[in-house]
Amino acid sequence: MTALLDLSLTELKQQIEEIGEKGFRAGQIYAWLTACVPFEQMSNLSKPLREKLREHFSEGYPEILQKLCSKDGTKKYLLQMADESVVECVLMNYEYGRTLCISTQVGCAMGCAFCASTKGGLRRNLSAGEILGQVLRVNADLGSGRNITNVVLMGTGEPLGNYDAVVGFLRLIRQKESLGMSMRNISLSTCGLVPEIYRFAEEGLGATLCLSLHSAIQQKREQIMPIARKYPLRQVIQAMQAYSEKSGRRVIYEYILIAGLNDGKEDLDALEQILGGQNCHINLIPCNATDGRFAAPTKGQVYRFLAGLDERGLSATVRRTLGEDIDGACGQLRARYLGLLDRTE
Ligand code: SAH
Repeated sequence: MTALLDLSLTELKQQIEEIGEKGFRAGQIYAWLTACVPFEQMSNLSKPLREKLREHFSEGYPEILQKLCSKDGTKKYLLQMADESVVECVLMNYEYGRTLCISTQVGCAMGCAFCASTKGGLRRNLSAGEILGQVLRVNADLGSGRNITNVVLMGTGEPLGNYDAVVGFLRLIRQKESLGMSMRNISLSTCGLVPEIYRFAEEGLGATLCLSLHSAIQQKREQIMPIARKYPLRQVIQAMQAYSEKSGRRVIYEYILIAGLNDGKEDLDALEQILGGQNCHINLIPCNATDGRFAAPTKGQVYRFLAGLDERGLSATVRRTLGEDIDGACGQLRARYLGLLDRTE
């Protein structure tokens, strides 16, 4: 059964006409869909039409299974898809607006050693509508006048590993009849799938591209990120620079700082060597310890590393840690829900 959230307005119009209804109904239905309203409550449609919609289609929204609110205002949602798959997303409040971090896959195949999202492997890809549905569901939950302003594809899954659905999602969310979101307000994070980075550059959408770097030393990166064996650093950085040139946007390198692993002088020197002089910014993320092997750095260690980057002329900031009291880090809540993490972790 077709889930309407997977469709653009034009596609919805075609489907509505195919079931013998007037095309202008599509605009009305699309507005309800964007507000996350079920068919039965689409009050400007006749009852027979609402029943007909139910017969032929599903809406495609996820349901809220659990919602956790942190003391700092961060909210974490555990959402359930139609097939009972569970994904999570995190809402963060910043001065400039509300950012939602969403998932692109159920689980993840990438196997990064420090990440909770990949513990149960990849279950399946999400569809474009299921990715959009997360934004619409949380947006509706916030109530009117408190809209999500920014979206980051940094939840569970590798966005470029689910390429078509992710690009489909970006095209859906930017339609003015949907949330009309500018690509300037969307960031996509990848572990570094080189061919897909080039393909994404050609797409010309212009979202901010972030790379999970975590080490500028090839051997070290291989130890914590299996994908590094397939695509060596030199190739990944080249692809990121190609994206930057093509899009005219500064690219972001995410660097999880792990105590005693990637926080030394050699790590700073390696960063300078591969990123010096480039149009980029480094986002330092104090490691969220999901596993005994990867320890969070102290505040002092984080700021010493930041100073080291500054001395080397590299633009960098430390990402604020939000939602620590509610399993804020990547995949932690879902993993705990599914019993993939030890209670003590
Ligand atoms: N697969 C994509 C997007 C999901 S991960 C990618 O790899 O970029 C989103 C971000 O969360 C990445 O930078 C990832 O490395 C980071 N992350 C994963 N586990 C983390 C942890 N334990 N502590 C801090 N950040 C983590």
